[in-house]
Amino acid sequence: MGKVTGFMEYERLEEGYEPVAVRLKNYKEFVIGLNTEQAKVQAARCMDCGTPFCNSGCPVNNVIPDFNDLVYRGGETDWKSAIAVLHSTNNFPEFTGRICPAPCEAACTLNVNDDAVGIKSIEHAIIDRAWAEGWVTPRPAPVKTGKTVAVVGSGPAGLAAAQQLARVGHSVTVFEKNDRVGGLLRYGIPDFKMEKSHIDRRVAQMEAEGVVFRTGVMVAHLPEGSKVTNWAKDVVSAGELLEQFDAVVLAGGSEQSRDLPVPGRDLAGVHFAMEFLPQQNKVNAGDKLKNQMRADGKHVIVIGGGDTGSDCVGTSNRHGAKSVTQFELLPQPPEVEDRPMTWPYWPIKLRTSSSHEEGCEREFAIATKEFIGEKGKLTGVKTVRLEWVNGKMTEMEGSEQVLQADLVLLAMGFVSPVASIVDAFGVTKDARGNAKASTDFTGGYRTNVGKVFTAGDMRRGQSLVVWAIREGRQAARAVDEFLMGTSDLPR
Ligand SMILES: Cc1cc2nc3c(=O)[nH]c(=O)nc-3n(C[C@H](O)[C@H](O)[C@H](O)COP(=O)(O)OP(=O)(O)OC[C@H]3O[C@@H](n4cnc5c(N)ncnc54)[C@H](O)[C@@H]3O)c2cc1C
Ligand code: SF4
Repeated sequence: MGKVTGFMEYERLEEGYEPVAVRLKNYKEFVIGLNTEQAKVQAARCMDCGTPFCNSGCPVNNVIPDFNDLVYRGGETDWKSAIAVLHSTNNFPEFTGRICPAPCEAACTLNVNDDAVGIKSIEHAIIDRAWAEGWVTPRPAPVKTGKTVAVVGSGPAGLAAAQQLARVGHSVTVFEKNDRVGGLLRYGIPDFKMEKSHIDRRVAQMEAEGVVFRTGVMVAHLPEGSKVTNWAKDVVSAGELLEQFDAVVLAGGSEQSRDLPVPGRDLAGVHFAMEFLPQQNKVNAGDKLKNQMRADGKHVIVIGGGDTGSDCVGTSNRHGAKSVTQFELLPQPPEVEDRPMTWPYWPIKLRTSSSHEEGCEREFAIATKEFIGEKGKLTGVKTVRLEWVNGKMTEMEGSEQVLQADLVLLAMGFVSPVASIVDAFGVTKDARGNAKASTDFTGGYRTNVGKVFTAGDMRRGQSLVVWAIREGRQAARAVDEFLMGTSDLPR
């Protein structure tokens, strides 16, 4: 807790944003975090509620009242303790402090009838100060176990698993098919939401802790003569990993984008969001791309109302699109949630992202019937309005319309992991095509193949960074237990 009466004395203060006109000129982060004094006042709003629902609302179970109390006290040793508390449950608070949707705040007791404590902004302030002050240092294991672990995939799940395992003395190698480490944090999430130097800094820390990163290496069972996809240069077979390592963690994400197979899908100008977004990440990193897919001067339609869609909106506006429209199949949700009905759970309500604020038409209850084109090139999108009655969707007669479009970005989520990597290890899949493993306290995260474990989007399906960190940490404990018979790693 912070100050017992703080919630009655102080208002919630949101983090600041650079003005739209300034931030649209570049791809830099534009959120202005709380300073030490502001964080202290915000932490003071954490009351002695007795049952901190925020702690279970947070997927990594951050010990929120404790770090709030330390930030409220405000001494340097308190801040040092605050980062220790935060790191005890979360390997990468600089990621979540920037891009977590903060389900903890929906669960905050103050959120029943007031504005929730600004937990995410306090987390952001703690970790940014900790890095700035040099309090985040490598923590190499004092004793090596002689055991080896291969982690496939360097997204947040793979990184969390690798760091936990290295810190208890195992020799960990991370295999990543892309040319840089980070998974969707690196190639997906735009730099303006999270600059990539945050990943590089952690990678340096993990290397100092003994983790070996092998980028540009695809783990697969590729039939002879088949092409290596993405930016991978080398292939390592599943068999090699099983032979050479004592345990394997599959954290390859959920990379199969959901398609929209309507007439005209093959027209030039209709693309998956994940063809578009990673290219801008690469350009921001200084790479030279031939024929980058760009939105300059185009009428852009983004199909899909979630995070990925919103990132396409922000990137298109930075390119200088003529217009940006985002479609959502579902009807527009209410602007304000029904708190007594939803608290402490994640409420359905209209969420307006910073990218939406930068300029975007949002269309709800609309479906795409056809992509229209001339000479093989997209010129428009034929749509129909939808009516939702008792959860059932029907098309409204006579509501068909053609909207001008030069670029369509499909951002309708991800169906499953790419099957070949799961199959290459002989791992059983669940009904949705994810690598199958439970989350049981004993034996969780372990697949049907003895020494193969799985975590993150590859196991649970498309989700969030904070869930991937949780799964990576829990899978690490399961692996440690498997290798050593017992484990001191937290779950
Ligand atoms: C555009 C976009 C925006 C998002 N925004 C947010 C957000 O704001 N907040 C949030 O919480 N979540 C967000 N998410 C979701 C979040 O990024 C994911 O849930 C999270 O990254 C999953 O982590 P992961 O480690 O399981 O997998 P990933 O991050 O997908 O990483 C998997 C890694 O495995 C590698 N890999 C796969 N197969 C192989 C192989 N055979 N050999 C070698 N390497 C392999 C991949 O190249 C990749 O680097 C967003 C997702 C997208 C697509
Ligand atoms: S990781 Fe996300 S849910 Fe957990 S405390 Fe931080 S912002 Fe809240």
